[in-house]
Amino acid sequence: MGHKLKIGLVGAGLGGMTAAVALQQRGINVVVYEQSPELGEIGAGITVGPNANRVITGLGLEDEFEALASATPHAGILHYETGERLNYIPRGHDAYMKDHGAVSRLMHRADVHAALERAFNADEDSLKLKYKLTDISQDDDGVTLKFANGETDRVDVAIACDGLKSIIRDKLFPTEPPVFTGYMAWRGLVDRSRVPNVSVDPHFAAYPAEDKMFARYPVRHGTLINYVANARRSGYTSESWKDQTDITEVLEEFEGWCDDVVGIIRATPEGRCNRWALHSRKPLDSWIKGRVSLLGDAAHPMTPFHGMGAGMAIEDAAVLARCFEASGDDWQDALRRYECARLGRANKFHVASLERGQTYMSAKPDDRKQSPSAGVEDELGYDAMTVAI
Ligand SMILES: Cc1cc2nc3c(=O)[nH]c(=O)nc-3n(C[C@H](O)[C@H](O)[C@H](O)COP(=O)(O)OP(=O)(O)OC[C@H]3O[C@@H](n4cnc5c(N)ncnc54)[C@H](O)[C@@H]3O)c2cc1C
Repeated sequence: MGHKLKIGLVGAGLGGMTAAVALQQRGINVVVYEQSPELGEIGAGITVGPNANRVITGLGLEDEFEALASATPHAGILHYETGERLNYIPRGHDAYMKDHGAVSRLMHRADVHAALERAFNADEDSLKLKYKLTDISQDDDGVTLKFANGETDRVDVAIACDGLKSIIRDKLFPTEPPVFTGYMAWRGLVDRSRVPNVSVDPHFAAYPAEDKMFARYPVRHGTLINYVANARRSGYTSESWKDQTDITEVLEEFEGWCDDVVGIIRATPEGRCNRWALHSRKPLDSWIKGRVSLLGDAAHPMTPFHGMGAGMAIEDAAVLARCFEASGDDWQDALRRYECARLGRANKFHVASLERGQTYMSAKPDDRKQSPSAGVEDELGYDAMTVAI
Protein backbone atom coordinates (compact mmCIF):
# COMPACT_ATOMS: atom_id res chain seq x y z
CA MET A 1 0.00 0.00 0.00
CA GLY A 2 1.40 3.42 -0.87
CA HIS A 3 1.59 6.07 1.83
CA LYS A 4 0.70 9.64 0.87
CA LEU A 5 -0.19 10.97 4.30
CA LYS A 6 1.86 13.64 6.02
CA ILE A 7 1.86 12.99 9.77
CA GLY A 8 2.84 15.79 12.14
CA LEU A 9 4.40 14.71 15.42
CA VAL A 10 4.35 17.54 17.96
CA GLY A 11 7.14 16.98 20.49
CA ALA A 12 10.48 15.22 20.11
CA GLY A 13 10.80 13.46 23.48
CA LEU A 14 11.35 9.72 23.68
CA GLY A 15 7.77 9.09 22.51
CA GLY A 16 7.85 11.48 19.54
CA MET A 17 11.29 10.35 18.41
CA THR A 18 10.41 6.65 18.59
CA ALA A 19 7.27 7.32 16.57
CA ALA A 20 9.27 9.33 14.03
CA VAL A 21 11.76 6.50 13.49
CA ALA A 22 9.12 3.75 13.40
CA LEU A 23 6.96 5.66 10.90
CA GLN A 24 9.89 6.59 8.66
CA GLN A 25 11.06 2.98 8.63
CA ARG A 26 7.65 2.10 7.16
CA GLY A 27 7.95 4.68 4.40
CA ILE A 28 5.53 7.12 6.04
CA ASN A 29 6.12 10.85 5.72
CA VAL A 30 6.57 12.55 9.12
CA VAL A 31 7.34 16.05 10.30
CA VAL A 32 8.55 16.46 13.88
CA TYR A 33 7.91 19.85 15.52
CA GLU A 34 9.89 20.53 18.68
CA GLN A 35 9.82 23.70 20.77
CA SER A 36 13.47 23.44 21.89
CA PRO A 37 16.32 24.80 19.79
CA GLU A 38 17.98 21.37 19.74
CA LEU A 39 17.12 17.73 20.24
CA GLY A 40 18.07 16.03 23.48
CA GLU A 41 17.06 14.69 26.87
CA ILE A 42 17.76 15.58 30.46
CA GLY A 43 20.72 14.16 32.38
CA ALA A 44 19.06 11.37 34.32
CA GLY A 45 18.70 7.62 34.29
CA ILE A 46 15.89 5.55 32.87
CA THR A 47 14.77 1.94 33.11
CA VAL A 48 14.26 0.53 29.64
CA GLY A 49 12.23 -2.58 30.39
CA PRO A 50 11.85 -5.68 28.20
CA ASN A 51 8.64 -4.33 26.65
CA ALA A 52 10.49 -1.20 25.48
CA ASN A 53 13.52 -3.21 24.41
CA ARG A 54 11.36 -5.34 22.11
CA VAL A 55 10.59 -2.13 20.21
CA ILE A 56 14.25 -1.11 20.24
CA THR A 57 15.11 -4.49 18.71
CA GLY A 58 12.31 -4.08 16.19
CA LEU A 59 13.77 -0.72 15.13
CA GLY A 60 17.14 -2.41 14.53
CA LEU A 61 18.84 -0.64 17.45
CA GLU A 62 19.55 -3.65 19.67
CA ASP A 63 23.34 -3.74 19.03
CA GLU A 64 23.63 -0.02 19.69
CA PHE A 65 21.72 -0.34 22.96
CA GLU A 66 23.72 -3.39 24.02
CA ALA A 67 26.91 -1.35 23.54
CA LEU A 68 25.45 1.39 25.76
CA ALA A 69 24.19 -0.84 28.58
CA SER A 70 24.17 -4.58 29.26
CA ALA A 71 21.18 -6.35 30.71
CA THR A 72 20.45 -5.50 34.34
CA PRO A 73 21.75 -8.49 36.34
CA HIS A 74 19.66 -8.08 39.48
CA ALA A 75 17.30 -5.86 41.42
CA GLY A 76 16.62 -5.63 45.11
CA ILE A 77 14.84 -4.00 47.98
CA LEU A 78 17.13 -2.82 50.79
CA HIS A 79 16.36 -1.58 54.29
CA TYR A 80 16.49 2.19 54.35
CA GLU A 81 18.40 2.45 57.62
CA THR A 82 20.58 -0.67 57.70
CA GLY A 83 20.98 -1.45 53.99
CA GLU A 84 19.99 -5.07 54.75
CA ARG A 85 18.64 -7.04 51.77
CA LEU A 86 14.88 -7.51 52.11
CA ASN A 87 14.27 -8.90 48.63
CA TYR A 88 16.72 -9.92 45.90
CA ILE A 89 15.57 -10.62 42.36
CA PRO A 90 18.06 -12.16 39.90
CA ARG A 91 17.36 -10.80 36.42
CA GLY A 92 20.13 -10.89 33.82
CA HIS A 93 20.12 -11.64 30.12
CA ASP A 94 19.06 -15.29 30.15
CA ALA A 95 16.34 -14.97 32.79
CA TYR A 96 14.77 -11.99 31.07
CA MET A 97 14.98 -13.50 27.60
CA LYS A 98 13.29 -16.64 28.92
CA ASP A 99 10.57 -14.88 30.90
CA HIS A 100 9.92 -11.77 28.80
CA GLY A 101 11.59 -12.21 25.41
CA ALA A 102 13.89 -9.19 25.87
CA VAL A 103 16.26 -7.78 28.48
CA SER A 104 15.89 -4.88 30.89
CA ARG A 105 18.48 -2.09 30.83
CA LEU A 106 19.32 0.85 33.05
CA MET A 107 20.44 3.72 30.85
CA HIS A 108 21.23 7.41 30.57
CA ARG A 109 18.23 9.14 29.01
CA ALA A 110 20.43 11.21 26.70
CA ASP A 111 21.95 7.99 25.29
CA VAL A 112 18.51 6.57 24.51
CA HIS A 113 17.45 9.79 22.83
CA ALA A 114 20.71 10.10 20.88
CA ALA A 115 20.35 6.56 19.50
CA LEU A 116 16.86 7.45 18.25
CA GLU A 117 18.16 10.70 16.75
CA ARG A 118 20.80 8.76 14.79
CA ALA A 119 18.12 6.41 13.45
CA PHE A 120 15.92 9.34 12.38
CA ASN A 121 16.38 10.72 8.91
CA ALA A 122 16.31 14.42 9.76
CA ASP A 123 16.28 17.16 7.15
CA GLU A 124 14.62 20.55 6.88
CA ASP A 125 11.34 18.93 5.84
CA SER A 126 11.19 16.30 8.58
CA LEU A 127 12.50 18.17 11.64
CA LYS A 128 11.41 21.64 12.73
CA LEU A 129 13.22 22.94 15.79
CA LYS A 130 12.14 26.10 17.65
CA TYR A 131 8.58 25.25 16.66
CA LYS A 132 6.48 25.69 19.78
CA LEU A 133 2.90 24.80 19.02
CA THR A 134 0.44 27.43 20.20
CA ASP A 135 -2.76 26.43 18.44
CA ILE A 136 -4.33 23.57 16.51
CA SER A 137 -7.50 23.37 14.42
CA GLN A 138 -8.84 20.97 11.83
CA ASP A 139 -11.25 20.77 8.91
CA ASP A 140 -12.33 18.10 6.42
CA ASP A 141 -9.00 18.21 4.59
CA GLY A 142 -6.40 18.38 7.30
CA VAL A 143 -4.97 19.86 10.49
CA THR A 144 -3.57 23.37 10.86
CA LEU A 145 -0.73 23.83 13.33
CA LYS A 146 0.28 27.28 14.53
CA PHE A 147 3.59 28.02 16.17
CA ALA A 148 5.04 30.71 18.43
CA ASN A 149 7.60 31.63 15.74
CA GLY A 150 4.74 32.84 13.51
CA GLU A 151 4.81 29.81 11.20
CA THR A 152 1.75 27.78 10.25
CA ASP A 153 1.81 24.27 8.82
CA ARG A 154 -0.74 21.80 7.44
CA VAL A 155 -0.66 18.04 8.00
CA ASP A 156 -3.09 15.22 7.28
CA VAL A 157 -2.90 13.84 10.81
CA ALA A 158 -1.36 15.26 13.99
CA ILE A 159 -0.08 13.23 16.92
CA ALA A 160 0.42 15.03 20.23
CA CYS A 161 3.73 13.86 21.70
CA ASP A 162 4.03 17.05 23.74
CA GLY A 163 4.16 15.47 27.18
CA LEU A 164 2.41 16.04 30.51
CA LYS A 165 1.53 19.66 29.82
CA SER A 166 0.23 18.87 26.30
CA ILE A 167 -1.36 21.91 24.69
CA ILE A 168 -3.12 19.66 22.20
CA ARG A 169 -4.72 17.67 25.01
CA ASP A 170 -5.85 20.93 26.64
CA LYS A 171 -7.31 22.30 23.42
CA LEU A 172 -9.07 19.25 21.99
CA PHE A 173 -9.76 16.74 24.76
CA PRO A 174 -11.96 16.80 27.87
CA THR A 175 -9.22 17.07 30.45
CA GLU A 176 -8.41 18.74 33.73
CA PRO A 177 -5.09 20.59 34.14
CA PRO A 178 -2.17 18.54 35.54
CA VAL A 179 -2.61 18.04 39.29
CA PHE A 180 0.01 17.45 41.95
CA THR A 181 0.07 13.73 42.84
CA GLY A 182 1.36 14.26 46.38
CA TYR A 183 4.85 13.02 45.52
CA MET A 184 8.06 14.98 45.23
CA ALA A 185 11.02 13.57 43.31
CA TRP A 186 14.65 14.64 43.42
CA ARG A 187 16.97 13.26 40.79
CA GLY A 188 20.71 13.37 40.43
CA LEU A 189 23.64 11.75 38.66
CA VAL A 190 26.79 11.15 40.66
CA ASP A 191 30.28 10.21 39.52
CA ARG A 192 30.97 6.71 40.75
CA SER A 193 34.54 7.75 41.55
CA ARG A 194 33.10 10.09 44.23
CA VAL A 195 31.32 7.20 45.97
CA PRO A 196 33.66 4.24 45.37
CA ASN A 197 32.36 2.29 48.38
CA VAL A 198 28.73 2.35 47.34
CA SER A 199 27.58 -1.16 46.42
CA VAL A 200 25.94 -1.76 43.04
CA ASP A 201 24.76 -5.22 44.01
CA PRO A 202 21.82 -5.34 43.55
CA HIS A 203 22.22 -3.36 40.36
CA PHE A 204 18.86 -1.62 40.80
CA ALA A 205 18.23 -0.96 44.49
CA ALA A 206 15.16 0.60 46.09
CA TYR A 207 15.13 1.68 49.73
CA PRO A 208 11.47 2.14 50.63
CA ALA A 209 10.20 3.60 53.90
CA GLU A 210 6.91 5.01 55.08
CA ASP A 211 6.14 8.06 52.89
CA LYS A 212 9.65 8.11 51.40
CA MET A 213 11.77 6.12 49.02
CA PHE A 214 15.24 6.23 47.52
CA ALA A 215 16.31 4.28 44.42
CA ARG A 216 19.70 4.13 42.76
CA TYR A 217 21.34 2.33 39.87
CA PRO A 218 24.52 2.61 37.82
CA VAL A 219 24.48 3.93 34.24
CA ARG A 220 27.13 4.33 31.53
CA HIS A 221 28.90 1.10 32.42
CA GLY A 222 29.02 1.95 36.09
CA THR A 223 30.77 5.31 35.71
CA LEU A 224 27.72 7.17 37.03
CA ILE A 225 25.15 6.45 39.71
CA ASN A 226 21.65 7.68 39.01
CA TYR A 227 19.28 8.28 41.89
CA VAL A 228 15.66 9.21 42.43
CA ALA A 229 14.47 10.19 45.89
CA ASN A 230 10.75 10.48 46.60
CA ALA A 231 8.73 11.89 49.47
CA ARG A 232 5.02 12.33 49.98
CA ARG A 233 4.00 15.93 50.51
CA SER A 234 0.67 17.63 50.83
CA GLY A 235 -0.31 20.84 49.16
CA TYR A 236 2.69 21.58 46.95
CA THR A 237 1.87 24.66 44.93
CA SER A 238 5.04 25.62 43.10
CA GLU A 239 4.42 26.76 39.56
CA SER A 240 7.70 25.30 38.48
CA TRP A 241 7.53 21.54 38.17
CA LYS A 242 11.14 20.99 37.32
CA ASP A 243 13.86 23.01 38.93
CA GLN A 244 17.31 22.81 40.44
CA THR A 245 17.64 22.54 44.16
CA ASP A 246 20.29 22.53 46.81
CA ILE A 247 21.05 19.07 48.21
CA THR A 248 20.57 20.34 51.78
CA GLU A 249 16.85 19.93 51.21
CA VAL A 250 17.30 16.29 50.12
CA LEU A 251 19.72 15.52 52.95
CA GLU A 252 17.18 16.84 55.45
CA GLU A 253 14.53 14.53 54.02
CA PHE A 254 16.83 11.50 54.15
CA GLU A 255 18.66 12.22 57.38
CA GLY A 256 19.47 9.03 59.30
CA TRP A 257 19.22 6.80 56.25
CA CYS A 258 22.00 4.27 55.55
CA ASP A 259 25.46 5.39 54.49
CA ASP A 260 25.05 4.52 50.80
CA VAL A 261 21.94 6.70 50.48
CA VAL A 262 23.39 9.69 52.31
CA GLY A 263 26.76 9.26 50.56
CA ILE A 264 25.16 9.34 47.10
CA ILE A 265 23.09 12.44 47.88
CA ARG A 266 26.14 14.21 49.31
CA ALA A 267 28.16 13.44 46.17
CA THR A 268 25.69 15.23 43.86
CA PRO A 269 27.58 17.91 41.91
CA GLU A 270 26.56 21.41 42.97
CA GLY A 271 23.50 22.71 41.17
CA ARG A 272 22.85 19.33 39.56
CA CYS A 273 20.02 18.03 41.71
CA ASN A 274 16.67 18.36 39.97
CA ARG A 275 13.43 18.60 41.85
CA TRP A 276 10.05 17.61 40.47
CA ALA A 277 6.63 18.00 41.99
CA LEU A 278 5.13 14.98 40.24
CA HIS A 279 1.97 15.94 38.39
CA SER A 280 -0.50 13.78 36.52
CA ARG A 281 -3.89 13.85 34.83
CA LYS A 282 -6.75 11.39 34.88
CA PRO A 283 -6.86 8.65 32.22
CA LEU A 284 -8.95 9.56 29.17
CA ASP A 285 -11.75 7.49 27.59
CA SER A 286 -10.63 8.34 24.07
CA TRP A 287 -7.43 9.49 22.41
CA ILE A 288 -9.00 10.50 19.10
CA LYS A 289 -10.44 13.83 18.08
CA GLY A 290 -10.95 13.87 14.32
CA ARG A 291 -7.51 13.75 12.72
CA VAL A 292 -5.66 14.21 15.98
CA SER A 293 -4.49 11.66 18.53
CA LEU A 294 -2.27 11.50 21.61
CA LEU A 295 0.86 9.52 22.45
CA GLY A 296 3.08 9.09 25.52
CA ASP A 297 2.70 11.44 28.48
CA ALA A 298 0.24 13.58 26.50
CA ALA A 299 -2.08 10.57 26.54
CA HIS A 300 -1.17 8.99 29.89
CA PRO A 301 1.08 11.05 32.19
CA MET A 302 1.70 8.46 34.88
CA THR A 303 3.67 8.48 38.12
CA PRO A 304 7.13 6.90 37.78
CA PHE A 305 6.75 4.09 40.33
CA HIS A 306 6.82 1.32 37.76
CA GLY A 307 9.48 3.11 35.67
CA MET A 308 7.16 2.73 32.70
CA GLY A 309 6.13 6.17 31.42
CA ALA A 310 8.63 6.20 28.60
CA GLY A 311 8.15 2.46 28.10
CA MET A 312 4.46 3.07 27.42
CA ALA A 313 5.32 5.96 25.06
CA ILE A 314 7.72 3.69 23.16
CA GLU A 315 5.08 0.96 22.91
CA ASP A 316 2.51 3.54 21.68
CA ALA A 317 4.95 4.70 19.01
CA ALA A 318 5.57 1.21 17.64
CA VAL A 319 1.88 0.33 17.55
CA LEU A 320 0.96 3.67 15.95
CA ALA A 321 3.46 3.10 13.14
CA ARG A 322 2.21 -0.45 12.57
CA CYS A 323 -1.39 0.82 12.40
CA PHE A 324 -0.54 3.41 9.72
CA GLU A 325 1.39 0.78 7.81
CA ALA A 326 -1.58 -1.60 7.94
CA SER A 327 -4.25 0.99 7.11
CA GLY A 328 -2.43 2.83 4.34
CA ASP A 329 -3.95 6.26 3.84
CA ASP A 330 -7.12 5.39 5.75
CA TRP A 331 -6.15 7.51 8.75
CA GLN A 332 -9.47 6.98 10.51
CA ASP A 333 -8.90 3.24 10.49
CA ALA A 334 -5.29 3.67 11.62
CA LEU A 335 -6.23 5.89 14.58
CA ARG A 336 -9.08 3.55 15.58
CA ARG A 337 -6.76 0.56 15.58
CA TYR A 338 -4.15 2.48 17.54
CA GLU A 339 -6.55 3.58 20.25
CA CYS A 340 -8.11 0.14 20.44
CA ALA A 341 -4.72 -1.57 20.87
CA ARG A 342 -3.21 0.93 23.31
CA LEU A 343 -5.65 2.85 25.48
CA GLY A 344 -6.62 0.00 27.83
CA ARG A 345 -3.06 -1.11 28.49
CA ALA A 346 -1.70 2.40 29.04
CA ASN A 347 -4.55 3.31 31.40
CA LYS A 348 -3.95 0.08 33.33
CA PHE A 349 -0.30 1.06 33.89
CA HIS A 350 -1.40 4.56 34.81
CA VAL A 351 -3.45 3.16 37.71
CA ALA A 352 -0.91 0.44 38.60
CA SER A 353 1.89 3.03 38.88
CA LEU A 354 -0.09 5.13 41.32
CA GLU A 355 -0.87 2.03 43.40
CA ARG A 356 2.79 0.97 43.30
CA GLY A 357 3.72 4.33 44.85
CA GLN A 358 1.35 3.55 47.70
CA THR A 359 2.78 0.06 48.36
CA TYR A 360 6.39 1.24 47.99
CA MET A 361 5.84 3.94 50.61
CA SER A 362 3.30 2.05 52.69
CA ALA A 363 3.18 2.12 56.48
CA LYS A 364 3.27 -1.73 56.38
CA PRO A 365 6.81 -3.15 56.14
CA ASP A 366 5.60 -6.26 54.24
CA ASP A 367 4.17 -4.11 51.43
CA ARG A 368 7.51 -2.41 51.04
CA LYS A 369 9.41 -5.68 50.50
CA GLN A 370 7.68 -6.46 47.21
CA SER A 371 9.65 -6.81 43.98
CA PRO A 372 9.91 -3.51 42.01
CA SER A 373 7.70 -4.97 39.26
CA ALA A 374 5.11 -6.39 41.69
CA GLY A 375 1.69 -6.43 40.07
CA VAL A 376 2.89 -5.96 36.49
CA GLU A 377 5.42 -8.79 36.09
CA ASP A 378 3.10 -10.60 33.64
CA GLU A 379 2.86 -7.49 31.48
CA LEU A 380 6.56 -7.14 30.76
CA GLY A 381 6.57 -9.62 27.86
CA TYR A 382 4.17 -7.44 25.83
CA ASP A 383 5.44 -7.17 22.29
CA ALA A 384 4.34 -3.94 20.59
CA MET A 385 5.89 -5.17 17.33
CA THR A 386 3.51 -8.15 17.02
CA VAL A 387 0.51 -7.47 19.27
CA ALA A 388 -2.84 -7.64 17.44
CA ILE A 389 -3.86 -4.30 15.92
C1 LIG B 1 11.30 11.10 38.35
C2 LIG B 1 10.90 10.38 37.09
C3 LIG B 1 11.49 9.15 36.78
C4 LIG B 1 11.09 8.45 35.63
N1 LIG B 1 11.68 7.23 35.35
C5 LIG B 1 11.27 6.51 34.27
C6 LIG B 1 11.86 5.23 33.96
O1 LIG B 1 12.77 4.75 34.65
N2 LIG B 1 11.39 4.54 32.88
C7 LIG B 1 10.39 5.04 32.09
O2 LIG B 1 10.00 4.36 31.12
N3 LIG B 1 9.82 6.25 32.34
C8 LIG B 1 10.24 7.00 33.40
N4 LIG B 1 9.68 8.21 33.66
C9 LIG B 1 8.61 8.72 32.78
C10 LIG B 1 9.16 9.31 31.51
O3 LIG B 1 10.12 10.29 31.80
C11 LIG B 1 8.05 9.93 30.66
O4 LIG B 1 6.91 9.11 30.68
C12 LIG B 1 8.52 10.09 29.21
O5 LIG B 1 9.66 10.89 29.15
C13 LIG B 1 7.40 10.68 28.35
O6 LIG B 1 7.88 10.88 27.04
P1 LIG B 1 7.08 11.79 26.03
O7 LIG B 1 7.88 11.77 24.77
O8 LIG B 1 5.66 11.36 25.98
O9 LIG B 1 7.04 13.23 26.69
P2 LIG B 1 8.24 14.22 27.07
O10 LIG B 1 9.47 13.49 27.40
O11 LIG B 1 7.69 15.17 28.08
O12 LIG B 1 8.52 15.01 25.71
C14 LIG B 1 7.66 16.02 25.25
C15 LIG B 1 8.39 16.81 24.18
O13 LIG B 1 7.47 17.73 23.59
C16 LIG B 1 8.06 19.00 23.55
N5 LIG B 1 6.96 19.97 23.61
C17 LIG B 1 6.16 20.22 24.69
N6 LIG B 1 5.26 21.17 24.37
C18 LIG B 1 5.49 21.51 23.08
C19 LIG B 1 4.89 22.44 22.19
N7 LIG B 1 3.84 23.21 22.57
N8 LIG B 1 5.36 22.54 20.91
C20 LIG B 1 6.41 21.75 20.51
N9 LIG B 1 7.04 20.88 21.33
C21 LIG B 1 6.57 20.75 22.59
C22 LIG B 1 9.00 19.04 24.74
O14 LIG B 1 10.02 20.02 24.59
C23 LIG B 1 9.55 17.62 24.73
O15 LIG B 1 10.65 17.48 23.88
C24 LIG B 1 10.08 8.97 34.78
C25 LIG B 1 9.52 10.22 35.07
C26 LIG B 1 9.92 10.92 36.21
C27 LIG B 1 9.30 12.27 36.49
